[in-house]
This record gives sequence, C-alpha cells and structure tokens, in this order.
Amino acid sequence: MLWILSFEFKYLFLILKVMSKIAKEKKQEDFMKFLGTAGARFVMIKQLRASGGIWVSCKGTNVLIDPGPGSIVRCAASRPKLDPSKLDAIILTHRHLDHSGDINVMIEAMTEGGFKKKGVVFCPADAIKEDTVILTHVMNFPEKIEILEANRDYSAGNFEFATSMNHIHPVQTYGLKFKIRDTTIALLTDTKYFKELADFYKTDILVISVVFFEPRPGVDHLCLADAESLIGDIQPKKTILTHFGMTMLKAKPHIQSEGLSKRLGIEVLAAYDGMTLDF
Ligand SMILES: [Zn+2]
Ligand SMILES: [Zn+2]
Repeated sequence: MLWILSFEFKYLFLILKVMSKIAKEKKQEDFMKFLGTAGARFVMIKQLRASGGIWVSCKGTNVLIDPGPGSIVRCAASRPKLDPSKLDAIILTHRHLDHSGDINVMIEAMTEGGFKKKGVVFCPADAIKEDTVILTHVMNFPEKIEILEANRDYSAGNFEFATSMNHIHPVQTYGLKFKIRDTTIALLTDTKYFKELADFYKTDILVISVVFFEPRPGVDHLCLADAESLIGDIQPKKTILTHFGMTMLKAKPHIQSEGLSKRLGIEVLAAYDGMTLDF
C-alpha cells in the first residue's frame, strides 16, 4: 500500500514539475514588456514614470527598443528578472535622450562587458554622427550597427521588423512594425501628426506615443486629439497609449483611454510601468 502511494506521489511530482516548466517557458517565450512609459523631458527627469523602453521576446530572440535612462535598473528590478546579457538586438527609434540614455550601458550588458562580440544595434544615421549617442569605444562591442532608413525591412535572429516613413520630429525618427506569433504590432513613436501615418500603422495592436493632452502647435509630438484621429483611421483591435508627458499624466491616462474606448468603440488601454503583453 505504502509503495503504491509513494509511486503515485512520484508521478504527481513529475507531472507538476513538467507543468511548471511548460508554464515558465511559455511565459518567457513571446511577450512585450513596458520598462517605462515616460514621454519627453520632464516626466523622464523627475522619473514620474520610468523611461526604460520596451523589451520584446519573440521566438527566443530578445530585443530592447529605446533604452532610455534607467533601462538597466528596470531590467534588474523586473519580476521575473530580465537579463540584458540575453539581448540579441537593441533598436533606437531616434537619438533623443528619453529613448537612448542607457544605450551604452545596455550595449555593454548585451556584450557581457564588451568581451563577447554579439548582437545588433539598429539606429538612424544621425544617432552616430558627430554628436554620437553611442560612445566610440562601445561601437565595436556589437556584431554590427545597422543604420535604419525609412520603409525598410530588418531582422535580428527570429525578430523581423519594418520601419515607417520619416516621422516629423527634430531628429531622424522611425516607427516600427513587427509580428509576434499571429499578431501584428506597431510602435508609433514621437512625431508631429500627419494624416499619412495611418497608412503604415495598420496593425492588430497599436502602441502610440501620446505626449500632450492638449494640442501644442510648434512642438513635434502627438496630443490626445491627434491620437484619437489616428486610432479612428487605423482601427486596430487594441490600442495602448504610452510615452506620457506632464499634461497627459495630470489628465490621468487611464481615464483618457476609457474616454477614447467609448468614443471610438475600440479597446484602448493606458500603459503602465511593468505592463506585460503575453502572446
Ligand atoms: Zn520621446
Ligand atoms: Zn523624441
């Protein structure tokens, strides 16, 4: 009798172990995590929201998009922890500090202190011109640095992405479009509004940078009304607002996203630091 019990326990234990391993692997396989949702200068400087960028894991390939200040801290503080030495690529949509502040330390981490030549860094050409955001001595650490241009396809490991048209922003800036499993995802980063943006960003999930609550003419960023008009044109299945400036934070992003959902009849969420989408 006793041996039957111990036999069953042994199997139960094995089944539980396999199940937890499967759950762990599934959880770690395909996801997207917001290591920051701060937009523009002041929310970043005051760290009212973190500014660590977005980590994407796709079929075993790990990519970090826009590692702003504190990215490495957000990786270490993440639960489960995100290990930057497992990164295969880092992408800068543009050179602004809130997108590139931690680029050097993240390259060091990806390449294990510069001792292991690996990974690809993608950035627009002006990010590494005279006033380069990547330190000269760090440039040789990755396998290669690939220059982003408008409307092109790129890949790193199992992660494939396309760049948008030129955004209207003070520096060279491109949004991104990629696919995780069967879901298409777009990251509409900093830009002034123009109608044609909607043509590129037609996807299932739209992640959109909404810096201002009210329109602010003369500054090349989207406000909530611009986002509303773009979401209406694009008609994604799900929209995630992020990259909040001061005025958006004061207007409470989760209240504004609820308003948009009701007005547009589309699911609109406000991103928060640590928000994770599993696929
Ligand atoms: Zn920005
Ligand atoms: Zn910017």
